[in-house]
Amino acid sequence: MNKTVIKLAIQKKGRLSEKTIELLKNCGIKFISNSSSLKTKAFNFPMEILFLRDDDIPGYVADGVADFGILGMNEIDEKNKNVSIIKKLGFSKCRLSIAVPNDFNYTSIHSLEGKKIATSYPVILKKFLTENNVSAEIHEIGGSVEIAPTIGLTDAICDLVSTGGTLLSNGLKEVEVIYKSESALIGNKNLSPEKQAILDKWMLRIEAVYKAQNNKYILMNVPNSSIEAVSKLLPGMKSPTVIPLREEGWSSVHSVINQDDFWEIIEKVKREGAEGILVCPIEQMIL
Ligand code: ATP
Ligand code: MG
Repeated sequence: MNKTVIKLAIQKKGRLSEKTIELLKNCGIKFISNSSSLKTKAFNFPMEILFLRDDDIPGYVADGVADFGILGMNEIDEKNKNVSIIKKLGFSKCRLSIAVPNDFNYTSIHSLEGKKIATSYPVILKKFLTENNVSAEIHEIGGSVEIAPTIGLTDAICDLVSTGGTLLSNGLKEVEVIYKSESALIGNKNLSPEKQAILDKWMLRIEAVYKAQNNKYILMNVPNSSIEAVSKLLPGMKSPTVIPLREEGWSSVHSVINQDDFWEIIEKVKREGAEGILVCPIEQMIL
């Protein structure tokens, strides 16, 4: 009997947790997560889930304490551990930006020459400054970076931004975006064949969830004279399903369309005489 279990490290509590858990649930992986447990086992998939601080995940995955981890690319690149990036997951998007007080006379990146910058991301910031030939003093702090200029600690900050609201309320303006981040799945570089096989099974589910999110199931009534034209607009996975309606001369046409083409296709099929158009979400899509 194969008893191999993969260990996945995810953020215990924070901006990544909800979406990460949602992804696992959409993959049909069932488990109980409560705020006090540090570890849980899925009921219906060979996976153990470790709840950790995101800062610790790259190290644990590199050392093999966990086989996989889900966290922001910003932490992955900052920690710079020897792990493989298996898939970018597209949620928790944010940017790492340099911001200065509103009254700072900022003209270009060279305005930062000789200044002090507070950040929790010294590695990414250092790389950016070096690439741009700016020498500034990096002051590493763990959190609440945005108050550093107000309390006179530094001249500028480099921190994560999503809407910019926190910067605004601290009297700061964003002057340089130095890095764009999203969540990603990382893995240990020396997976056993058994663990690799479980990953393959899991990846099939992840891909199905992502494909489904980008596609819609669409149904419409079409006069028989327009079936050819409508079918060309709705190629679907193979070809559309055409079912005769009870009313003579009409059929129901079913297909799958990409979210991005959605409105354009609706306009075109309406021009061909389609009516009663229904659009439904898809839960999983396996090609
Ligand atoms: P932990 O306790 O796990 O160390 P944390 O305080 O480092 O948590 P969070 O603030 O929960 O981390 O953010 C986790 C990740 O979410 C970030 O590393 C980043 O990838 C992403 N993120 C998305 N939007 C933002 C944002 N506006 N501010 C900070 N991080 C964001
Ligand atoms: Mg953290």
